[in-house]
This record gives sequence, C-alpha cells and structure tokens, in this order.
Amino acid sequence: MTETKFTPRVFSGIQPSGNLHLGNYLGALKRFVDMQGPEMETVYCMVDLHAITVWQDPKELAHSTRELCAGFIAAGIDPEQSILFNQSQVPEHAQLAWIFNCVARMGWMQRMTQWKDKAGKNQQNASLGLFAYPSLMAADILVYHATHVPVGDDQKQHLELTRDIAIKFNHDYGVDFFPITEPVIEGAATRVMSLRDGGKKMSKSDPSDMSRINMTDDADTIAKKIRKAKTDPDALPSDVDGLEGRPEARNLVNIYAALSDQTVEQVLAEVGGKQFGEFKPMLADLAVAKLSPISTEMARLMGDQAEIDRILDRGAERAREIAAPILSRTYEIVGMVGAGRA
Ligand code: ATP
Ligand code: MG
Repeated sequence: MTETKFTPRVFSGIQPSGNLHLGNYLGALKRFVDMQGPEMETVYCMVDLHAITVWQDPKELAHSTRELCAGFIAAGIDPEQSILFNQSQVPEHAQLAWIFNCVARMGWMQRMTQWKDKAGKNQQNASLGLFAYPSLMAADILVYHATHVPVGDDQKQHLELTRDIAIKFNHDYGVDFFPITEPVIEGAATRVMSLRDGGKKMSKSDPSDMSRINMTDDADTIAKKIRKAKTDPDALPSDVDGLEGRPEARNLVNIYAALSDQTVEQVLAEVGGKQFGEFKPMLADLAVAKLSPISTEMARLMGDQAEIDRILDRGAERAREIAAPILSRTYEIVGMVGAGRA
C-alpha cells in the first residue's frame, strides 16, 4: 500500500460534563494553546454528544457547553485561528461513528478502562452510548483526518483504539484513507490526580468538589482545597526518585512544575527539604496567579452568550467544510449509493 501524505492537523475535545478543572487545563487546554499556530490547523470541540453518555440535566448541559467555550477562549484559543465548535452541530461526527461501530469489535471495546471505570459494577445499566464512546471519539478525530491529538494520559487507550479502527478500515476496504493518528501526551502533568486520593485522576464527574480545582474557583477556594489536599508527613525530596511511592506528593509537585513551566527536577531543586506546610501556600499562590486571570475572563465572556453562540455557529460551519467531504468519500468507499453526488 502506498503511503498517503496527510496534511498535519490537530484535533481534540473536552466534554461539557461539568466544571472545567485543573487536570483539563494542564493535560489538555494548555497544550491546545501551545499547539495553536500558523504551522498547523487546529480543531477544538466541545463534545456534547460524549457528555450525554451519562445523564446530563439539559439546562446544565447548555450552560456547561457555553462555559467551556468561554474557557477555551479565556485560556488562549483564538476562535479565528482555531476552529472552535460543539460536536452536535456537526452531524458528520455521529454519521462516521456509525460506520466505525461496524468496524470496531466488541472485544476491543470491552477492554477499555474508561468503560470499566465509568460503568462500574453495574454494566447492564450503563448506556449503550457509554460503551460506544471510543468509536465516536475515533470519528471525531478521523472525520478531520487529524494527525495529532493532544490529550491527557487517561485518553491514551482510546487513541490506540482510534489507530486500530483506522488500520482495520483501511485494510478491509483496501484503501489508505484514514491517517494513523499520533497521540500528543506531554508535559509535567499529563495525569493530574484527585486532591483527596492520589490513586484516582482528577475528574469533572467526581462527586467530591474538594477532589478538584475548578477553573471557576475563587482564590480562597483554591487555597482551601490545596491546604486540605491529602499528603504524607514527610518533607519533599530533592530528586525525582524520592517521589517513589508518594503519589500525593508527586501530584502536587507535578502540578507546580506544569503551572510554572518547569521540569519536576527543577522544582525539586527549589523546594526539596520543605514541609508541605510551606510548600502548599507556594502552590496555592502559583495556582491563583495562573488561574484567576482565566476565570475572570471566562466570567466576562459568559456575560455575552449571544456572542458565544455566534462563535460556535461559525466554528461548526468551518468544521463541516472539512468533515462533509471526508464523510462523503467514506460512504463512497463503503459502497453507499448516492454518496459523493452531493
Ligand atoms: P469526565 O469525568 O466527565 O470524563 P474529565 O474530567 O475526565 O470529565 P474529559 O472531558 O473527559 O474530562 O477530558 C478532556 C481532556 O482532559 C482529555 O484530553 C483528558 O485526557 C484530559 N484530562 C481529564 N482529566 C485529566 C487529568 N486528571 N489530568 C490530565 N488530563 C486530564
Ligand atoms: Mg474523562
């Protein structure tokens, strides 16, 4: 098979499933901003179809979608330079996902740890959408022929599945049509952990608000959550090896490193030997300094919802210009009559 050259293009998404938090910011949003530039087209999405794989109150979903859009812009995404939109306004995602539902195998989906974590013990009562989530995610990415996908570490397995779907589709139909996507999982905080439990990732859907720092938290709340964050009684080590077996300490150091754009080694050279009583206020000051300008700007943008809706409409139009011909060509490859005539 000949190697097709795909134009480099970045795609990623965030669910409007609750409050944007520090893990989303460091693992995803901040990286999205880093990748925005003249060299690559960047496509960023509020994945509302993913959000409803678990119950969402309709009013809250609409609010979270707009607030997430405000979060993207406040963090530095320029809606002129990047394509910024919500998933449900581009029906090609769901249409390609159906094709991929017919490519992906049950066994592949059953191995997904996000499915196992989110469905928990009650798989029989989980939605079919939650099970099929990774197939829709593959469609989100591949409907743009995206080559690079910045995500947090928890999405690594879903990106491997995306590659498997592209490979199987290309193989089954004898084409070289879908690119084999590169995950971009980089930085000091690719997996920010819960502040209450160093073994669990920070999540929008964690019932405890004390487990995460929300982008909309005020300075006092951020300081309180960091002060109460679970730690161990020892002082901070001076090198990375000293973080072994200390997940909570590692988490706070990783957060400090990512927020200050330093490596973990650099941070430990500075704070090694300090007790948490001294380190936590340093971390709180840094988090407030970095996050409060973003939350202030988010609140300002939320004051003009009509403008947010216009940005999303325009983004969806631009997204469809890329997605529609790729879906149409997919239908043609699969043998669907009428495809390609539009
Ligand atoms: P939910 O609990 O509803 O799944 P979430 O907090 O996991 O929400 P998502 O919308 O699923 O957020 O993920 C958006 C992006 O943020 C993804 O790229 C994901 O990898 C990243 N991300 C989520 N949680 C973390 C985390 N704790 N640390 C680093 N990155 C994260
Ligand atoms: Mg998630």
